[in-house]
Amino acid sequence: MIELDRNTAVPEICPDYDPWDPINSLMRYGRHTLTSVEVTVSHLCNMRCEHCAVGDSLVTKEGDMLPLDRLLHRLEEISHLETISITGGEPAFRRDTVRNVIIPLLRYARQRGLRSQLNSNITMDLERYEEIAPYLDVLHISHNYTGAEEFREIGFARAENPTGNGSAARLYEQMMNNARALARGGLFVSAESMINYRTHEKLPDIHRLIVEMGCKRHEVHPMYPSAFARHLPVLGLDELRQAIHRLLDARDPSVWMLFGTLPFFACTNSEEDRRLLERLKAAPQVTVRNDPDGRNRLNVSLFDGNVHVTDFADFPPLGNIKQDRLEDVFGTWLDHSLSRTVSCHCPTASCCGPNLLVKDTYYRNEDFTRRKAPGEVSGSKLVLPV
Ligand code: SF4
Repeated sequence: MIELDRNTAVPEICPDYDPWDPINSLMRYGRHTLTSVEVTVSHLCNMRCEHCAVGDSLVTKEGDMLPLDRLLHRLEEISHLETISITGGEPAFRRDTVRNVIIPLLRYARQRGLRSQLNSNITMDLERYEEIAPYLDVLHISHNYTGAEEFREIGFARAENPTGNGSAARLYEQMMNNARALARGGLFVSAESMINYRTHEKLPDIHRLIVEMGCKRHEVHPMYPSAFARHLPVLGLDELRQAIHRLLDARDPSVWMLFGTLPFFACTNSEEDRRLLERLKAAPQVTVRNDPDGRNRLNVSLFDGNVHVTDFADFPPLGNIKQDRLEDVFGTWLDHSLSRTVSCHCPTASCCGPNLLVKDTYYRNEDFTRRKAPGEVSGSKLVLPV
């Protein structure tokens, strides 16, 4: 059993309490507010997944990081900070990063009562994750496979040298065993699957494996064309709807299922979209999260200090922690013309609009600031800073 260093003053993360959903801070403060920071602590990874959203930034040798104190100082300045996420690459790729960056950052989060998440492929030695587990709230892993062969095909598709069946199979087993051991030890393991051209008909099988590993939550997101995924086929809205219905038909209703970055909104004219949204709303232990990127969250690279809106990697940095306060950078983003194109909010639907990738992929010519969900009395445009 892992000794979890729990802060009991904060509520348990559950379908009724998801502190990463930006709708909470929007309702509480009346405008989008920076409550979440994602920190990139590695550009190294032992895998090269075909869909990797940060694939373009992966390297085989990386430079020094900024002193952690510089980041902590910037985090201290954020008055409404609630969550931090740690991401890579594979954040645990180097033991030094685990001991000198990840654990101190998680300790800071615990002391301040923040909730934390680590995004990992969990293919390293179990002990590396066991060192982190006592300080962590959510271990977020990816699972898009029904077996070792798919893991090899997907997980090493962009590797420079071919990866043999034997070594991929060993890594697959290690990943599954690590997830089981950490979940058994009491850690909240949340497995994310993408809905894409490979997985859309296999999601029920993938779900069964995730349940079998002991994960507390299954996160499901459509894949959008960014970084390595840029050249992969994009599913149509019909295929996405069918995939979600299929998964809902087959799921284990005792496991929390969180859908995110869905391209379906209450302001739709489509009967099928409405039917799907109603089904999602009525299903037990199912939640639909609004996308945090640029709504309550910024990403900071601990290597160069640059600050980004996480899901829009092609957009130049909005600032740098060497000279900018993160709340100031967030204000600049909210006021940006791009951000304003998706600045809608319908309280009746608990919706704060599509993110930029969703709009770009499926609704390029739609003006969401003119749409509204049924029952909204006025237009849905948010009040933004002047
Ligand atoms: S907030 Fe935007 S996307 Fe959501 S229902 Fe309203 S208008 Fe549509």
